[in-house]
Amino acid sequence: MTRSKERSAKAEKSLPEAVQTAIESCRLRGAQVTPLREAVLTALWSADCPIGAYDLRDQLSETLGRNISAASIYRTLDFLCVQGLAARIESRNAYVACAHPEHDHTCIHFVCNDCGASSEIEDKKLERLLAADAEALGFAIDHRVIELSGSCVACQRAAE
Ligand SMILES: [Zn+2]
Ligand SMILES: [Zn+2]
Repeated sequence: MTRSKERSAKAEKSLPEAVQTAIESCRLRGAQVTPLREAVLTALWSADCPIGAYDLRDQLSETLGRNISAASIYRTLDFLCVQGLAARIESRNAYVACAHPEHDHTCIHFVCNDCGASSEIEDKKLERLLAADAEALGFAIDHRVIELSGSCVACQRAAE
């Protein structure tokens, strides 16, 4: 089976199961999952598109019924990214839930310019190439997010 052909794993898992798996993997590593962290993670999993920190703040202030500062949203997002549960899409200045939080991997995101949707795949071949390049440079990678932009299947069909 080639993992590179796989579509986003988000679609395959139901939301609570995916969030629970992610939280469980965090706890196993000894990281605290506070209600806010869980709420942000759930919001990221529920979204079809990458979400910005300020949109998350507005959304969560409403769902949690209290004012949440942008600073605490940023701290929470940092935590989720460090834990490998979320990734920042640099080109959009927005965040997505990581579709494969169970293991250490390179996040490869295909982001649609038209509808903003993003899908994530894992590509072992690419990971091996990057690891070999890093090794040749003596470089220690701590963050691996690759973004590709273009047009998703649905938007290409809609444009036909
Ligand atoms: Zn990922
Ligand atoms: Zn699209």
